[in-house]
Parts: sequence; C-alpha cells; structure tokens
Amino acid sequence: MLLSSIPVISEEEERLKPEKIVSTGEIPSPVNLPPGCVFHPRCREAREVCRREEPGMREVEVGHLVRCHLYGA
Ligand code: SF4
Repeated sequence: MLLSSIPVISEEEERLKPEKIVSTGEIPSPVNLPPGCVFHPRCREAREVCRREEPGMREVEVGHLVRCHLYGA
C-alpha cells in the first residue's frame, strides 16, 4: 500500500510501481494505539495474531528488516 502510493513523475516509474492498493479503516490515534500490530486495522492481510501480539523486528535479508507476523514465523 505504501509503495503503491508513492508519487511518480514518469511513465517508466509508473510501470515499476506495484498495483494500486486502496487503504481501508481509519488511521489510529497516536495517543491510543491499537494492541498488537498497530497497522492491523488497515491491513488487508491481518490475522488474529496481529490483533493480539506486536510483531518483533526480523532481518529477512542482510540490511532488510521487517516487523510483520507474515515473515519468518
Ligand atoms: S503483522 Fe503484518 S500482516 Fe499483521 S497486521 Fe501487521 S502488517 Fe499486517
């Protein structure tokens, strides 16, 4: 969703962007964040575990860090 929302200035860049993903849900209040993964109310891949547990940071490639239950479980 984040990558598909990047503004581009050329047709070549537009071709490289991922398919447009329209966000759903509401942005949570920064003073009242949801439990688990703070992105779960807007994530179309959210699972039950996402609503309960905050995902830890994992290195999936050298220098590439991911904080998501769908990676490296
Ligand atoms: S942990 Fe991953 S799959 Fe779960 S809500 Fe967060 S971003 Fe989505």
